[in-house]
Amino acid sequence: MRSAKCEVRSSIAHPAPRTTHVALVCRVIMRIGVMGGTFDPIHLGHLRAAEEIYWAFKLDRVIFVPAAQPPHKEEQIEASALHRYEMVSLATVSTPYFSVSPIEFSRPGRSYSVETVREFRRLFGQECALYFIMGVDAFLDIATWREARELLALAQVIVTARPGWRLDEVERSMSPAQHHALGGPRFKYLRISEITSQMAMHSYEPRLILLVEVVSLDISSSEIRQLVKEGRSVRHLVTDAVAAYMATHGLYQ
Ligand code: ATP
Ligand code: MG
Repeated sequence: MRSAKCEVRSSIAHPAPRTTHVALVCRVIMRIGVMGGTFDPIHLGHLRAAEEIYWAFKLDRVIFVPAAQPPHKEEQIEASALHRYEMVSLATVSTPYFSVSPIEFSRPGRSYSVETVREFRRLFGQECALYFIMGVDAFLDIATWREARELLALAQVIVTARPGWRLDEVERSMSPAQHHALGGPRFKYLRISEITSQMAMHSYEPRLILLVEVVSLDISSSEIRQLVKEGRSVRHLVTDAVAAYMATHGLYQ
């Protein structure tokens, strides 16, 4: 599921002695989705949004990146970074195109997305098409994030729907100051069914923010933590392996 830019170089014009050959030079362009979050715990809403974007944008993989120390949420986090990482691993292990990265754990201090994306850009190279996937609630805060403008230049941001927020109102709801902080990005609203293969493969354009209407599930990690506290079931909101892990380690009780 990779896009390849192929150039055919012919040696006919300058033939090599006694042979004529055609060299096929193939440059494979990786298409990587990055989905950051606290994942306290990871739930089916996260997995479904990533699944839809993976297929619609013909990605090679989606990398889930649990935040080690999210700047905006320090007091609200309940499970340790290690537990959150383990739960993301369990939730993604059976999907071959999903993976989890501990990239934010190796950096001291707060976890800034711009640094994570910069590191992925270094690892995968300038040619890689990097898609930073986030829910609309998170996106509405992005102007306050560290080096937000730079983040938008390093990757193409895909904003996915979430119940309770209107994607088609996002651009209008941003203040002039927010637009300015983000470097005046352009927006494009898309329903997932409108994204053709052609569009997916040729639309990579950082600074253009794609607002994508995915099938969004009304699930949040805070609701799950609350259910556990009340001794109620979280089955079918998280994967069975995640539910078992939470129970084994007494998380959120
Ligand atoms: P909390 O309630 O603790 O804030 P959360 O459910 O919002 O948890 P986060 O870890 O904060 O989960 O979210 C990580 C990313 O996933 C964010 O970009 C968020 O917008 C997105 N996201 C969270 N829940 C959903 C959902 N149900 N559908 C689509 N995207 C989601
Ligand atoms: Mg959240």
